Formats: sequence, C-alpha cells, structure tokens
Amino acid sequence: MRALISVSDKTGIVEFAKELVSLGVEIISTGGTFNALQNAGVEVIGISDVTGFPECLDGRVKTLHPAIHAGLLNIRDNEEHQKQMQELGLSNIDLVVVNLYPFKQTILKEGVKLEEAIENIDIGGPTMLRSAAKNNHDVTVVVDPTDYAVVLEELRANNKVSVDTNFYLATKVFEHTANYDTMIANYLREQRGDYSLPNTFTMTFEKVQDMRYGENPHQGAAFYKEVGKTKGTLADAVQLNGKELSYNNINDANGALELLREFSEPAVVAVKHANPCGVGVGNNVLEAYQKAYTADSVSIFGGIIVTNQIIDKATAEEMCKIFFEIVIAPGYEEEALEVFKLKKNLRVLKLENITYSDPHALTMKKVDGGLIVQQKDLELLIEEELKVVTERTPSEKEMEDLHFAWKLVKHVKSNGIALAKDGMSVGMGGGQTNRIWATTQAIDHGMEFLGEEGVKGSVLASDAFFPFDDCVKAAAAAGITAIIQPGGSIRDEDSIKACNEAGIAMVFTGMRHFKH
Ligand code: 5GP
Repeated sequence: MRALISVSDKTGIVEFAKELVSLGVEIISTGGTFNALQNAGVEVIGISDVTGFPECLDGRVKTLHPAIHAGLLNIRDNEEHQKQMQELGLSNIDLVVVNLYPFKQTILKEGVKLEEAIENIDIGGPTMLRSAAKNNHDVTVVVDPTDYAVVLEELRANNKVSVDTNFYLATKVFEHTANYDTMIANYLREQRGDYSLPNTFTMTFEKVQDMRYGENPHQGAAFYKEVGKTKGTLADAVQLNGKELSYNNINDANGALELLREFSEPAVVAVKHANPCGVGVGNNVLEAYQKAYTADSVSIFGGIIVTNQIIDKATAEEMCKIFFEIVIAPGYEEEALEVFKLKKNLRVLKLENITYSDPHALTMKKVDGGLIVQQKDLELLIEEELKVVTERTPSEKEMEDLHFAWKLVKHVKSNGIALAKDGMSVGMGGGQTNRIWATTQAIDHGMEFLGEEGVKGSVLASDAFFPFDDCVKAAAAAGITAIIQPGGSIRDEDSIKACNEAGIAMVFTGMRHFKH
C-alpha cells in the first residue's frame, strides 16, 4: 500500500505516519511534509522520486503530474486501465492525506494583500483530493485530521479501509473543496467591490454549535457563522455567564441588536420574541434602562436586554430586580459582572463592535424550493426629503421624538406602529394584518404602562402609509401630537385633513420600512 501525504496543517501527522509505516504502508511526501516526517524519523520517499520532476515554481507545481494522478485515478478492476498503468510504468497510490493551504486563515488576517491571498490558493492539493475522492471505490482520502483515527482503526483490523468509509471520506472531500472554492470566489468578488446579487448563491457557513432544539423542542437546530462576516454579531460574542444560547435566544437577540444599531447615544433595547417591548435613550445606561423598563415593565420579564454602553454596577443591580434571560453589552465593569453572575442562568454576553453594521449585508430567507435574498434595510430616512404635510409644523422636541419613533417602527413587524416620547418608547403594535389594529395595540400598550397622561403628548410612527384616516383619528383621540409616516396613499389627503382638524403635525418620509 502506498500513501501520499501532503499537508499544510501538520497536526498529528507524524504520529499518523508512524502508525502507517508500522502497518507496512509506503509514504510519499512533498517538501515541507517530507521534512517534518523525516526529521521525526519516519521513512519517507520524496515526491520528485515518484514524478521524476522537481517541485518547482515556489511550490506551485509539486504533485501535479500524471504519475500521481494516474496512480490515483486508475480503476483497479479495469483491465485496460491496468494494462496502461503497466505500459507506462506507473504505480498505484491507495491513500491520500491532504489538507490545503490556509486560505481562510490568510484572508481573515488584518490587512492581508491580494497577492498573499492568491499565493494561498491551493491547486495541487484540491486536485489530488478530487482525484482520490472520485475514485473512492479504490482510494482512501483524508482531508480532516480528526479522521486519521478511523483510518488507522480499519487498517489495523482489516488491512484495508472499507468501501463505506471511503465513500464517507470522499463526501467530506467534496464538501471541503466546494467550501474552499466558495471562500476564494467570495473573497475575489469583494476585492472587485462587487456586491451585486450573484447568479448562483454560494456562501461559506461554519457550524458554531449544535443547539438543543429549534424554535420548538421537536425541531433539530444548529447555529452557523458566516465566514469573515461576524464582526459585531452574535457569532463574535463572548459568553461570560449562563447557559448556552438557544435557537430562539439567537433569533431574538439578533433582532434586539439590529434595533440597537440605530442609536449612537446611550441606548437600551428590551426585546421579547424578536419584537422590541421597551426602548430608551438617555445620558447614561442607567437612565436608558429605566426608560426601557418603565415603557413596559411586564414584557421585559424573560426577555433580552441589549445596550451600546459598558454596564456599571448600579445598572446591573437595577436590571437584576427582574428576571430576564440575556444581557448583551460591549463590556461590563467588574462589579457589574459580579452582580450578574449571582444569577447562574442569566446569559451574559460581551460583544465588541456592537454597533458595527456591514454596509453590504444581505438578508435572506429560505422559502420552500428557494431562497429570497435582499440588501439589508440599512437606510433610516433621508433628512432632506422629510416633508411636513400639515398646517402645523412639528416642534423641535416633537421632531426629535419622531426620529426616535421612526427608528423603533423600522424594527417592529408590519403592520407596525410605534409611539414615543422623551427618548422612550410609549407603545408598540406590530405583526397586525390591519394598520388600525396595530395603532390601537400601540395605544393600549402605552395606556397600560404609562396611563392616559403618558400617551398624551407622544408621537406616532407608522412603517407604511395610512390607507384611511382611521389611524389619525385614533391617535388624535389618545392625545398624540405628531405623526411620521412614508405617505404615498391615494387617500393621503384624508389623513392630512384629519391631522389638521386635530392640530396634529405630520411628516412624510417617502421611505417605507416593511419588516416581515
Ligand atoms: P508541503 O508543506 O508538504 O511542502 O506542502 C503541503 C501543501 O502543498 C498541502 O497543503 C498541499 O495541498 C499542497 N500541494 C501539494 N501539491 C501541490 C501542487 O502541485 N501545487 C500546489 N500549489 N500545492 C500543492
């Protein structure tokens, strides 16, 4: 039996090779691997002795030779193949152990140059892997060091590796090379500044963890990260306390972070089931938290709290007066962390770059039989395009509240309505099939926690236009004084008229924020 070993990641390779030699396997190797094995006292043949050709062009051509590929690709029970092998004086290679140039590690390095990345595109390695994997009936191919053990076990027991194992290992190879090429393709695309939606969708995801279950206990689930795209995301978060994140935790926390990224001032967002329930901004994290809590002191129970500020002890103590599942912040004062750690199950996550937003991010949703992909909704509004459509112009204070409410409603499921006042959410209504229901829900929400006085003088944001004047009338009845919405309904005039009658100031953004 002959094995060809050519690995960049040399983990465990010496031990594996020694075992192979003890089982009577002859080993061929390329430059660096050859040296590593020989230095460890393993008997090994240089690749050039097999190809009769020097490794050349800075290692770009080492194993790309018919003596290697015919040795891998010939079908062992095909007489014609065997006759040709004999005529050509070539021998079989029965086991290939290859792992590739570290392209991923290279491109993940800060400030890497295109030339360096290109030099780390492995050519001979994938070629051998593919040859061996194609001929898996006769050849064993190992791309993953964790599979060395299986191969040794079977060789020890049966002197050969089973057809089943070979098939399994070959499958792994094609997954691996597909992944490798996808990474190269995506990297090169980015180098060209090409962020258009491609004709075929290829992305590289790597499993972060299996999860206990999915949205419900009878659904299996896992969390994958997008290679090279994790900055400021949950995939980059460091967990400092508590149980592992669940599927719902990740989904909900992601929603919370998306809303948080709208704010540059100290902000706290509380989320339940991926919907914001209380949001506050203030001079510091404690003030922001108090507003988020006051806005809805019930839904926050069992919810998720995220902030863009370092959490101090006083805020941690305040938060810990209630039960919640997760807290995420860019950092924690040591004493705050101690407070949180008293709650064994509370998941505490530290996330650097918490407000970073990838300008080229896409959102995608699996639908049966396909995938729908779009650019992420990264716009908020265009200031110059704001248009006051009512007799009354919003006051400066109302304008500030309208901007705040607009940020909220962007992250509420459609039909979505958000009420706000003084840097605090007042009420939110979302996921309704009818806009007036979202409006009454938001008003009821506000009434429940802040009472009539709290709702009075607040402002309202609507994620899309009002089809009728009923929402304005409901707002007027609740004492809401200003409204922000995209405009664009054929009945806009009805809503404007209702505003004027109630003395409400209304602004059109010309931009819609559906979210489903
Ligand atoms: P070594 O450290 O043994 O010199 O090189 C091992 C690496 O070279 C492996 O990652 C393997 O995939 C890669 N490799 C093997 N043959 C060739 C070849 O002909 N061309 C290129 N570019 N890489 C090769």
